[in-house]
Amino acid sequence: MSAELIDGKKIALDIEFELIEKISKMDSKPSLSVIQVGEDPASTSYIRAKSKAAERVGINLTHHHLPESTTKSELSSLVNKLNESEDGIIIQLPLPEGLDSVLNEINPEKDVDGFHPFNLGKLVQGEPGLRPCTPAGVVELLYRSGNDPSGKHVVVVGRSTIVGKPLSLLLSQKGVDATVTLCHSRTPNLESFTGDADIVVVAVGWPDTVSANMLKSGVVVIDVGVNRTDSGLVGDVSSDVKEVASQLTPVPGGVGPMTVAMLMSNTVDSALKK
Ligand code: NDP
Repeated sequence: MSAELIDGKKIALDIEFELIEKISKMDSKPSLSVIQVGEDPASTSYIRAKSKAAERVGINLTHHHLPESTTKSELSSLVNKLNESEDGIIIQLPLPEGLDSVLNEINPEKDVDGFHPFNLGKLVQGEPGLRPCTPAGVVELLYRSGNDPSGKHVVVVGRSTIVGKPLSLLLSQKGVDATVTLCHSRTPNLESFTGDADIVVVAVGWPDTVSANMLKSGVVVIDVGVNRTDSGLVGDVSSDVKEVASQLTPVPGGVGPMTVAMLMSNTVDSALKK
């Protein structure tokens, strides 16, 4: 078997077209502010991708690039100012030490990254709210590639607050109805869980965490990982996974573009609620 690749880039473009349609009916363009503190090169390249997507769909994105020496009160006063004017605000992670608590000062209604405790609480309660972009992108990718998770056993590998944990909650919500197993670095015999899954989502940050011998034939594999190696960008699953999987996301070109598309979607939703 050679897995069909799930084209995240194309699916993200489909979502962008839907957003262009929605924005064309709005009185003014949605506004999104992205705050970057310091010079992390990965952050700079992620912000570039977000800026290009915003330009394509018609969102006014402003990049606030602050020096590494920015104090908590300086960052806090910028966030409070933007809370008054913007539809969406994100603070690009990682932040220099001591600034993380400012994340919670973003107005939850404008927290288009979906990381605010208020929005995470809404997710736990199954109430409407802004959802974290990567987990929301994975769920959207599943539906749009013909993989309704309802009734499926989905194994999520990785329990971070920005990917694995919220994804397990989204997938197990009423209406989505997957049966979810959440694995992590302390899970013994990882292969006993992944080998039973209909869908495996890997968000670990380490190449070759899941290989073909840990999977059943026909499984759908979503590879969230982004690892920079000497041979370029690779995901968290081994290249032999395509021999057993029925469908697989490529890295790059799988989950990454979906994360950006969901950020655009959250910004439009936030603007529509104004
Ligand atoms: P974190 O480092 O925050 O979390 C990694 C998780 O993986 C932890 O829960 C850890 O377990 C678990 N883990 C580590 N080693 C193993 C192992 N051998 N077996 C099972 N579980 C393991 O990472 P993130 O969630 O932030 O990111 C994960 C990956 O996804 C990274 O490559 C990141 O770059 C990528 N990413 C991609 C995005 C995209 O848009 N494409 C967006 C966000 C992230 P424990 O909790 O026990 O330590």
